[in-house]
Amino acid sequence: MWYQPKVQLATGRIIGAEALIRWQHPEMGMVSPAVFIPIAEESSLIVSLGEWAFRTACETVAEWKRQALFPGRIAVNISGRQLKFGGIAELVNRTLSDLGMPSDCLELEVTESVAMDDDSGMIDVLYRLQELGVYLSIDDFGTGYSSLSYLKRLPVRGLKIDRSFVLNLHEDRDDAAIARAIISIAGSLGLDLVAEGVELEEHREFLLRNGCIWAQGYLFSRPLPPAEFEARLRAQQAE
Ligand code: C2E
Ligand code: CA
Ligand code: CA
Ligand code: CA
Repeated sequence: MWYQPKVQLATGRIIGAEALIRWQHPEMGMVSPAVFIPIAEESSLIVSLGEWAFRTACETVAEWKRQALFPGRIAVNISGRQLKFGGIAELVNRTLSDLGMPSDCLELEVTESVAMDDDSGMIDVLYRLQELGVYLSIDDFGTGYSSLSYLKRLPVRGLKIDRSFVLNLHEDRDDAAIARAIISIAGSLGLDLVAEGVELEEHREFLLRNGCIWAQGYLFSRPLPPAEFEARLRAQQAE
């Protein structure tokens, strides 16, 4: 597992992280999760892979928390199949109690397309997670194509603007309008908002000017292997 800082846009300070899976293949080199996660999602492999990812991220962050190095929440990506069939609430409960980690240290990112599925079993699972004190956010927000009514039905606390809207927002009027609209939706519904894919100073300026407070992206840091992420945490603490 690698870790990408989530930062405060105004200062660049790390306020949390997203855990992202990596596969170092002996012959193929680094294989992107954008390639192998969708394949794992076609079978129940995603459940065991997802469990490993979740546990590993929690173990690492619990250790950083013990050293008072890690601020805020660790966000872990959860796929639809894990929510529906993976016993995710039990996994969360067991892992947090094994590690003595409070549930408010944990965020689960669920993609918009998964969240829009109105399977009642899945909605129950999301409420179970909320009862456990876990923070839920909607990933890739704006890329789905349904109404926004699902946001009212679900115990969601945050949104992530998909990076496809951030990429050209400094030069594309439509993307700029969509980004502003998403910032306004989050504000009106009382949801936190993180912009992903912030690569340019122009992105940062636009987002700050329009009221977005948190972000993630190469402008601040790429996803880092644990030792490098830990070094960043230590450097920030020494400031
Ligand atoms: P995602 O959840 O939307 O994660 C954000 C992706 O954007 C990551 O790609 C990250 O490295 C990349 N990214 C971050 N900042 C920037 C930027 O400024 N510019 C650009 N161009 N890209 C940026 P990554 O790590 O390749 O992951 C791809 C996708 O694979 C993730 O998209 C997520 O859907 C999935 N994934 C990764 N790890 C896990 C996991 O542990 N479990 C599950 N279920 N899915 C995962
Ligand atoms: Ca994500
Ligand atoms: Ca995303
Ligand atoms: Ca995305």
